[in-house]
Amino acid sequence: MIFENLSDRLQGIFKKLRGHGKLTEDDVSDAMREVRMALLEADVNFKVVKDFVKRVKERAVGQEVLDTLTAAQAVIKIVDEELTALMGGTESRLSISPNPPTVIMLVGLQGSGKTTSAGKLALMLKKQGKRPLLVADDIYRPAAIKQLEVIGEKVEVPVFSQGQEDAVAIARAAIGHSASHANDVVIIDTAGRLQIDETLMQELRDIKAAVKPHEILLVVDAMTGQEAVNVAQSFDESLGLDGVIMTKLDGDARGGAALSIKAVTGCPVKFVGMGEKLEPLEVFHPDRMASRILG
Ligand code: GDP
Repeated sequence: MIFENLSDRLQGIFKKLRGHGKLTEDDVSDAMREVRMALLEADVNFKVVKDFVKRVKERAVGQEVLDTLTAAQAVIKIVDEELTALMGGTESRLSISPNPPTVIMLVGLQGSGKTTSAGKLALMLKKQGKRPLLVADDIYRPAAIKQLEVIGEKVEVPVFSQGQEDAVAIARAAIGHSASHANDVVIIDTAGRLQIDETLMQELRDIKAAVKPHEILLVVDAMTGQEAVNVAQSFDESLGLDGVIMTKLDGDARGGAALSIKAVTGCPVKFVGMGEKLEPLEVFHPDRMASRILG
């Protein structure tokens, strides 16, 4: 499960700190040195770790809590707040357009879990009373179109496909289709590649220009750690992102991507995928994640 290793490490560090009663600045520095190591081992971005430790230390020393018997508790509370802030503070919601359809474009590398997440997102929206339409816009792989159709059937959401024609034309046609079929959310599953390349980015920019999505969400695999952060940075720079869907949290014991991505790229994690099964996507709650880390 996500943060398993980090959580164990931090709990050990804070247990030791609690044993001290009143704390000195050196106690805090020692503990934070260990926290720093634990975060780096969890594959959190180096600069993010550095800033985080600095902030916690400044706050802990600045609040004059060290000379009280609950000093350790106060330090842990600061860590909790700073971890929450690192992951975006509060949860970030989807922007739903007052004029339907709301258009959501899903982008990401092949294998990140994009198609699965499209199904989970559709299921979540359906549970909220929406009438989503899934759009098979990966024109390069017939298998991808088929996969979305299978997923659409499982979650009982219609899938719009037009074979391997022009991706921009398909996206446009899907919007027209949604109007005549009372679909209030259109989820476009775009093509993924093994690596970021300029041809793909140009196609995504063309789709964006044509359908003006309300949300462009990047799907990344949490298990790829800092690579996921780099991917997010590249997509944000060349396309502009509104948020991230982080998949495979169920298999990510470290959690470095979840802890770094907002701080590095400015893009909030909006949803998480926790398994291969088609269940509704889960909202990412930074405060609950921080609590999970601290145990
Ligand atoms: P795409 O190429 O980006 O469309 O990726 P797919 O949706 O085909 O997913 C790639 C693989 O990851 C499949 O085997 C999925 O079942 C799996 N997968 C997707 N999301 C999750 C998740 O949240 N947890 C786990 N464990 N596996 C996932």
